[in-house]
Amino acid sequence: MCTVTFIPREDGFYVAMNRDERIARPSARPPAVFDEGFAKSVYPLDCEGGTWIAANHMCIAFTLLNWNDAPVLRKKSRTRGHVIPALVSSDCSQSAESALWKLDMEEILPFRLVGIFPNEARVMEWTWDQISSERKNFPWISAQWCSSSLSDSIATAARGRVFEKNSKARNAGSLGWVRQLHASHDSEDPPFSYCVHRAGVETVSYSELVCSGGRIDCKYLAGNPCKKSLAEHKASMRIVRKPLSPAAVSLNKTEMSFVSPRTA
Ligand SMILES: [Zn+2]
Repeated sequence: MCTVTFIPREDGFYVAMNRDERIARPSARPPAVFDEGFAKSVYPLDCEGGTWIAANHMCIAFTLLNWNDAPVLRKKSRTRGHVIPALVSSDCSQSAESALWKLDMEEILPFRLVGIFPNEARVMEWTWDQISSERKNFPWISAQWCSSSLSDSIATAARGRVFEKNSKARNAGSLGWVRQLHASHDSEDPPFSYCVHRAGVETVSYSELVCSGGRIDCKYLAGNPCKKSLAEHKASMRIVRKPLSPAAVSLNKTEMSFVSPRTA
């Protein structure tokens, strides 16, 4: 149960993610930099030692959402949180996909994995339904992915409507705008708000990746993002390679106007 928003910027991107969980679930650990020698990565750790959002030293980023609209065919024996750590050091989309196929996914519950590859100016999504996996390619434009234990497709449509409405704001696409969106409540459709307050289920955290100016910042707030008093945890690292290739920069310049996400 989550919302992921991707916004490309001239020199990088923003990724924001609300994570909605049962309130009883133990909380996560703040983001930290993990150094594997050949690769560095930054991410928060969930209570089972995995993660739902991460980026590496090349600004390649991953987020993972539960796929609730796919039926569960087999009981979980391995947590979805271990998928991202297994491929976070990948240096391109191909190596990320190879690392994903090497994972024993049989008893991992259905998920959607989003990969952001600034050097290739593309975004990819891999879905896993406990039988097979599918890959979708997205261009380097704004996009959003939503899940809800009530219905992923209804959540996608409801949050997509709010996104469209807010896209008319003068500051649309700015970091402040993204944060405001993820802290918003939908008066027309409260259960499908970005910031969730339902019986037993709440938005338990807001996480953010900002890739800009030769560095990546990973921010984490534990609790409902609408609460202004939350303590902010942040870990940062320098980007080793230039985040955008010249081709990607020129492509990006033509996409500078704000583009609404696909909500299909
Ligand atoms: Zn709220």
